[in-house]
Amino acid sequence: MIANLISDTVTRPSEGMLEAMMKAKVGDDVFKEDPSVNALEEEVASLFGKEAALFFPTGTMANQTAIKLHTQPGDQLICDHYSHIYNYEGGGVSFNSGVSCRLIEGNQGRITADQVESVINPPDFYHSPKTTLVCLENTTNKGGGAVYDFEEIKKIRTCCSNNGLALHLDGARLWNALEVTGESTLAYGEQFDTISLCFSKGLGCPVGSILVGSKETMTKALRIRKVFGGGMRQSGYLAEAARYALQNHRKDLKNDHKKAKELEVVLKECVHIKSVEPVITNIVIFSLHNERNEIYFLDHLREKGILLLSLGKGKLRMVTHRDYTPEQHEYVIKTLTQMNVL
Ligand SMILES: *Cc1c(COP(=O)(O)O)cnc(C)c1O
Repeated sequence: MIANLISDTVTRPSEGMLEAMMKAKVGDDVFKEDPSVNALEEEVASLFGKEAALFFPTGTMANQTAIKLHTQPGDQLICDHYSHIYNYEGGGVSFNSGVSCRLIEGNQGRITADQVESVINPPDFYHSPKTTLVCLENTTNKGGGAVYDFEEIKKIRTCCSNNGLALHLDGARLWNALEVTGESTLAYGEQFDTISLCFSKGLGCPVGSILVGSKETMTKALRIRKVFGGGMRQSGYLAEAARYALQNHRKDLKNDHKKAKELEVVLKECVHIKSVEPVITNIVIFSLHNERNEIYFLDHLREKGILLLSLGKGKLRMVTHRDYTPEQHEYVIKTLTQMNVL
């Protein structure tokens, strides 16, 4: 048995999704003539109460486009030190936009309005970079799938509005956050200038992300996506996968969360493990007692067919997803429990 818990991106399309893809009506999306992409963009824009949306090959490109949209070279953006845009997008913030990051040490990747307020550079002090953008991430990735308190988001929005800053949400896993809190996409749309969302994580699509915002912003985004090389042709096959996932897979995210919670309980009992970050969605991050045990721990599980990710410094990560079956889950729990007597 192989249980791949490295990421929720390891899923393969379901039968139903493949059928939907096969039946897609397509055209050339660079000429805006792909009916499936157009339908997806309209659907997701209205889901968030936004005027427009743009389909992207990756979440990274959607985020990088958003950063480019809201900044000028030399500007500074504010984000948590764990954020994906800072850690895992290849330095794109500086490469693509010529922007620096003012990092905040938040709580599991979440920052507060007070923290934001305290690091905004005075706008007329021309010696320091101009602060123009705040980027939040929900759920947090390196922060262990943590979910923002919506009241804090509203405070951050107010702070941004008062200071003339744009607010972008990296919502790669916002679907997971909404599943837990029951908050609406419309409420989220109201708070942010732009939101990026992934279909290729828990929703189980092979490829695809989307950015939502105002009509004016998304018209600019179209040009930036072109510059970044993200104009795709008959991408309706992928858009149909995304539409299928929203209809049929989104409701299943709760199963991933339940399994992650059950893993948390077992890991807390494991003698090799020092601590487990609070589990709220589908990401489980834990630390071993001894960093040097990492290789032993990972190798032992790999021999048993269980794959997980090392985040370095003795921190390990498991992510549940729709291809992680109840049988695999039972097997992983049994294997972890047996490690206590080794
Ligand atoms: C996965 C992810 C992205 C986008 O990643 P891609 O692999 O480029 O699609 C962005 N932000 C977060 C928090 C993510 O987890």
